Amino acid sequence: MSTRGASARPDAGDFLVEARDVELAFGQTPALQGADLAVASGEIVAIMGPSGSGKSTLLHCLAGILVPDAGEVLFDGRRVDRMGESERSLLRRDRFGFVFQFGQLVPELTAEENVALPLLLGGARRAAALAEARAWFGQLGLAGMEGRRSGELSGGQAQRVALARALVARPAVLFADEPTGSLDSLTGENVMELLVTAARDQGTTVVIVTHEPRVAACADREVFVRDGKVTSVTAGRIAS
Ligand code: ADP
Repeated sequence: MSTRGASARPDAGDFLVEARDVELAFGQTPALQGADLAVASGEIVAIMGPSGSGKSTLLHCLAGILVPDAGEVLFDGRRVDRMGESERSLLRRDRFGFVFQFGQLVPELTAEENVALPLLLGGARRAAALAEARAWFGQLGLAGMEGRRSGELSGGQAQRVALARALVARPAVLFADEPTGSLDSLTGENVMELLVTAARDQGTTVVIVTHEPRVAACADREVFVRDGKVTSVTAGRIAS
C-alpha cells in the first residue's frame, strides 16, 4: 500500500471531491456527525470502519445521492449540497460512475447493453455505444460474455460487467460501495485489481467503501469512519 499522508486531507493542493463537517441524521439516528474527507484528483481512497459507522452515508453524500443536513460537499469546487435534484442527477450521470454490492445490472439487457447504458443515456448512438462497450470485455476477462444476461453470469463476471458500466463513460469519480462484498476473496481481489488498474489507466478518482482490509490495501490511502466522523491511518497507525 502506498500512502500519501496521515490526515484526511492529503495535500494542501486542490481536491476533486470534498466533504466538510458534514452532518446527516435519519430521523433520530445520527449517521454523520461532522465528517471531513478530501480526495485529490486521481487518488484512490478506501473508506473503512465498523458496520453502521456512516461509510455508505458519507459515500452517498459525496456522490450527490443524499444531501447533508449541515456542512458542505464539493465536487471540483462546486457546492453539490446546494444543487437541486436535477442538477445532482446530471452530475451523477455525466461525471460519476457507480459500483454497488448487488443487483446493479438490468436483467432484461445483455451484458454489452448494460455496459453501453451510460453512453446511451448520455445521448450516444446505439451502434457507437455498443462498440465502445464491447471494447471493455477483453480487458476485463469477459470476452464471449457480451450477449449474456445477468442470470447467465457468475457473481465475479457480473461485478466486472458492472465495473465496465461504471467506467465506460470515463467518469471523473468512481464511487464503489462494497463492490466485492458478495464475492469470494479470490474473485473479489481480481475485481479490485481490475478496478484499480482501469481507474489508474484513465486517471479516475476512486472512493471505495469496504470492510475488507485486502481491498483497502489496493488504495492509495485508507480512512476510517467511526461514529459518523472520519479518522485516518497511515501504516496501521490511527491518527484523528
Ligand atoms: P455503514 O455504511 O458504515 O454500515 P451507514 O452509513 O449505512 O453505515 O449507516 C449509518 C447509520 O445510519 C446507521 O445507524 C444506520 O442504521 C443508519 N441508516 C443508514 N441508512 C438509513 C436509512 N435509509 N434509514 C434509516 N437509518 C439509516
